[in-house]
Amino acid sequence: MSTIFKRIIDREIPADIVYEDDTVLAFLDIHPVRKGHTLVIPKAECVNIFDAKPEVLGHMMIVAQKVANALMEATEAKGVNIHMNNGHDAGQDVPHAHLHVIPRFKRGEVFQVPEHETYEDGESVLFAEKIKSVLTQ
Ligand code: 5GP
Repeated sequence: MSTIFKRIIDREIPADIVYEDDTVLAFLDIHPVRKGHTLVIPKAECVNIFDAKPEVLGHMMIVAQKVANALMEATEAKGVNIHMNNGHDAGQDVPHAHLHVIPRFKRGEVFQVPEHETYEDGESVLFAEKIKSVLTQ
């Protein structure tokens, strides 16, 4: 069964895409822990780390590094968290593998119970454009 992320890959539903190549897609999380929170997903469907091809996982991390560097510049983040939930009981809600790349601005905020932010109308497009422009420099 196709997931919401497959529908984003197929452009059936919109997303703020910041990077794309033959293997992966990166786009803003619709419910960001912090603004600029980006998801890096493989285009070929797999559920999580357990069934992903190692070379695909490796490429996801290479792209996560590019996105992390872009977030430092585009959002003026002071650091970045990268994490991956693998399995329902590990907090995975969407069963299509994804790396979270989350800009962080202040040490001491509890990571496990973060306050999420909400984009104003049109604001996510501006974030996506800014990050994309750094990625394509
Ligand atoms: P998980 O809990 O599976 O590791 O994370 C799934 C992430 O996907 C969540 O952070 C959630 O906000 C994000 N998400 C769920 N549905 C959509 C969607 O339709 N569009 C976008 N851009 N992000 C989504």
